[in-house]
Amino acid sequence: MQLIDNRYYIQNVDVLSLCEQFGTPLYVYDAEKMQSQVETLQNAFASVKMKIKYACKALNNISVLKLFKHYGTGLDTVSIQEVHLGLKAGFEPQEIIFTPNCVSFEEIQEAVSLGVVINIDNISILEQFGHIYGSSVPCCIRFNPHILAGGNHKISTGHIDSKFGISVLQSRHLLRVIKTYNIRVTGLHMHTGSDIVDADVFLQGANILFDLAPDFPDLEFMDFGSGFKVAYKEGDITTDIEDLGKKLSTAFQKFCRNYGKELELWFEPGKFLVSEAGVLLVKTNVIKTTPATVFVGVNSGLNHLIRPMMYDAYHEIVNVSNPFAPQRVYTVVGYICETDTFGWDRKLNEVRENDILAIKNAGAYGFTMSSQYNARTRPAEVLIFEGEPYLIRKAETLDDILKNQVEINFEQIVQNLQEI
Ligand SMILES: *Cc1c(COP(=O)(O)O)cnc(C)c1O
Repeated sequence: MQLIDNRYYIQNVDVLSLCEQFGTPLYVYDAEKMQSQVETLQNAFASVKMKIKYACKALNNISVLKLFKHYGTGLDTVSIQEVHLGLKAGFEPQEIIFTPNCVSFEEIQEAVSLGVVINIDNISILEQFGHIYGSSVPCCIRFNPHILAGGNHKISTGHIDSKFGISVLQSRHLLRVIKTYNIRVTGLHMHTGSDIVDADVFLQGANILFDLAPDFPDLEFMDFGSGFKVAYKEGDITTDIEDLGKKLSTAFQKFCRNYGKELELWFEPGKFLVSEAGVLLVKTNVIKTTPATVFVGVNSGLNHLIRPMMYDAYHEIVNVSNPFAPQRVYTVVGYICETDTFGWDRKLNEVRENDILAIKNAGAYGFTMSSQYNARTRPAEVLIFEGEPYLIRKAETLDDILKNQVEINFEQIVQNLQEI
């Protein structure tokens, strides 16, 4: 979002005019930003065979998936439904990696039948896999390298208490199962969490996979997952992708020489590709002064963006309607009957009722984590591509809330019972 003269724009599209055209609350995504993030990663890893698998749980609207297909990425999926969405969006099965956790074996079998790359993160699942497919279907192994990484405990997955991955400490057992069933392992994977700032954490994890690799002669790729940290406010520390590219590419090339084969290097970024590309536009319903603060109450809440409440995530907020007014201190809250604070003690240009606020970094884990709590409908989504806004999801209506509900006529039932 850029301030030009006295209006905010995304690309060349006026943000306030978007609100007039599509209503609020509204999710708006900037395709140009997504593309530049793809390119940043590609440029940093230009010296190796790097493949991006967009982690679509961050934002899985079918048009966004098609956009990433257009930008040449593959897809990382965590449910069979995401696999189906990816195929519907036009991805080839072999461009999709399926990394489920604690799903039924039937779901894995369905994914096998669809031809996608299967990532296995549990020895008991691997045994079932080997029993049924033997060496006929290749798979990738998700390791837990037990690296402490990432923002807070809720988004860190590499620690010893984590449910994700097969512990590196279990590798002897793992190899026994692989050998017994003659399983063909074509990839090694790790994903240690989100909001990792330090390139050395990735290198530490990579070294663990490199050390394991000699036991797996059929490797075609190594997947280092994701966890790149993005900026949530001006001056924030982020993962230095260029630095990571230099260090990890060098280490990877050296590893490939020792391994005797040039493997592909995969990443599965979600947040990195879409977080900063999205804003949630909301309208100010009320200004409410209490003894403690001045609340700005907006027409959205944890039903549309739960990250601030769930992870204490920081989302910058901007008053789009009143850019040059003096700043005052506000607490921005939602309209849900539950404490749903978007931000405490935020300096905003003076907010008036009906002003439009933009909540930034709303591209990742915004809409996809939304709900109909309080019987509220989910907002519309708009994608700005080549300077034009495209509606990619209509706002829900009451019909959507009632859609799968079944109404029971209790009077009729009781009357029928009495007649018997
Ligand atoms: C969630 C997830 C990702 C994406 O993580 P980000 O922090 O959004 O980049 C990648 N891989 C797997 C297996 C995931 O579960």
